[in-house]
Amino acid sequence: MCAEIPRNGLADRFWETKPMSELNQKEWEALCDGCGKCCLNKLEDDEGTVALTRVACRLLDNESCLCANYSNRHAYVPECIVLNPDTIAKNLYWLPRTCGYRLIYEGRALYDWHPLISGDPTSVHAAGVSVKGMTVPEFDVDEDDWDDYIIEEPH
Ligand code: SF4
Ligand code: SF4
Repeated sequence: MCAEIPRNGLADRFWETKPMSELNQKEWEALCDGCGKCCLNKLEDDEGTVALTRVACRLLDNESCLCANYSNRHAYVPECIVLNPDTIAKNLYWLPRTCGYRLIYEGRALYDWHPLISGDPTSVHAAGVSVKGMTVPEFDVDEDDWDDYIIEEPH
């Protein structure tokens, strides 16, 4: 879900005036803060409790926290979930607590470090909220060992 995030030409504080269902594609993509947390592999138990690991999707860039091939990602990662106004509700249970989509869906404000507020795409990293520098590639960790890599969500 972490694309290169275009922010030029966006209406001022559009997320406060338009419902999610009326956002255009550019506005929708701009709600993503670029934290990369949704691109970490997760473990889910029988009760639906989700644990985050620092084992990252094969396309996640550990430094930029962006998807290395966002437009073609499904050719490499068919299971990558597409978030849109129709799918967000059923995915809410695993979305990171600081995720811009989650915050807006829940009627909450974006944090000061969100690039739409700060004007700086790196502010999510400076705030310590992203996964920058903390991931290990999924190629390097056997799936049976992912529980050794469980982390608390950076927030
Ligand atoms: S393919 Fe992987 S890195 Fe890219 S958006 Fe999906 S989960 Fe994130
Ligand atoms: S968790 Fe939400 S805000 Fe963070 S990269 Fe994923 S979609 Fe974007």
